Amino acid sequence: GKVLVTGSNGYISVWIVRLLLEAGFSVRGTIRTPDKAAYLQKLFASYGDKLEFVVVKDITLPGAFDEAVKGVDAIEHLASPFHMKSSHPDDMIIPAVQGTHTILQSALQHGKNVKRIVITSSSASVDEFLDYAKIYTEDDWNNQSVREAKEKGKDCPPVHSYRASKTLAEKEAWKFVEEHNGQLTFDIVAICPVYVYGPVIQEVKSVDALNTSMASWYNNVVKGTADDDTLANVGGSWVDVRDVAATHVKSLMVEGAGNKRILNSAGEYKWQDWILAARKIDPKLSAGNTSYDPEKAVHLNRFGSTRMHDILGIAYHTEEETARDSLANFREHGWY
Ligand code: NDP
Repeated sequence: GKVLVTGSNGYISVWIVRLLLEAGFSVRGTIRTPDKAAYLQKLFASYGDKLEFVVVKDITLPGAFDEAVKGVDAIEHLASPFHMKSSHPDDMIIPAVQGTHTILQSALQHGKNVKRIVITSSSASVDEFLDYAKIYTEDDWNNQSVREAKEKGKDCPPVHSYRASKTLAEKEAWKFVEEHNGQLTFDIVAICPVYVYGPVIQEVKSVDALNTSMASWYNNVVKGTADDDTLANVGGSWVDVRDVAATHVKSLMVEGAGNKRILNSAGEYKWQDWILAARKIDPKLSAGNTSYDPEKAVHLNRFGSTRMHDILGIAYHTEEETARDSLANFREHGWY
């Protein structure tokens, strides 16, 4: 079969492209500008014409994906802004929501063979910064960020603008399938990863152009720029990029994933935990906060889903493996 991957040059996407090709699929990737294809053509040269690219310059335009969806059996939709620099929530919300609507609409009208569409949502569409002790599951929705974006407009904190964009985009997808009930050849799966870390195989022209999640890992763990308080008290939940990619690929193959949200979380961390894991591999890295006691760390907004295991049968990489492979990857790039 052939799979369309939108935003195919991104951090998570390139891993998905790789796993799809390894599993025997043909892949059509969308990119915003033609110059983004060369690196990937070279990386995957051994797959020859099983990999092709199409340029979709503006995913918010109606019909943007009409050509791209023709002849594909499934879609992985990842193209969406992920950064914390927006000056207005609309900068995030419009491409996220419109892009999601457009891919679904194009698939409805021009994707006769499409059987499943995987939407890359986020844990940002699940948890709220209100009840920190709660264990969140796929039954939960982040309505807080949507309210923040609506009420605060240009004064909305960028983190909520991003989180609102993910919530509203995923809601748009579920609304679309409900409204077109009975007319669709496909169902959808919404994948909700927490912070994604692990080796980068996309094109990164210099270390300051790393994708958002790996930029923070690099700065806090390798460069050692965080202060003691941040290292001991700031963190979240994490998952390895290869497990997120495997989730996307398996979600196309496992019937029971259809119409489900699937949280991706391997566990919780404070930044100092990553330093401890990384220093087991390279003791020369900066020691960080030497008074940190992992036993005393209080983890907030935890995720309690077992769907990765129960529906998809995927086991997570460990923190040690992700730290080891990320450091080796940075070394190959000459970044440390
Ligand atoms: P990257 O920034 O590496 O990739 C983002 C991709 O989306 C790129 O191909 C980018 O294209 C494209 N894109 C960004 N903005 C737009 C836009 N306005 N219009 C069209 N395309 C756009 O990020 P990730 O791989 O980390 O993220 C991929 C998806 O995973 C996103 O939907 C993100 O929300 C989600 N996610 C990521 C997590 C993480 O920790 N990394 C956690 C949870 C969810 P270009 O290169 O041209 O800018």
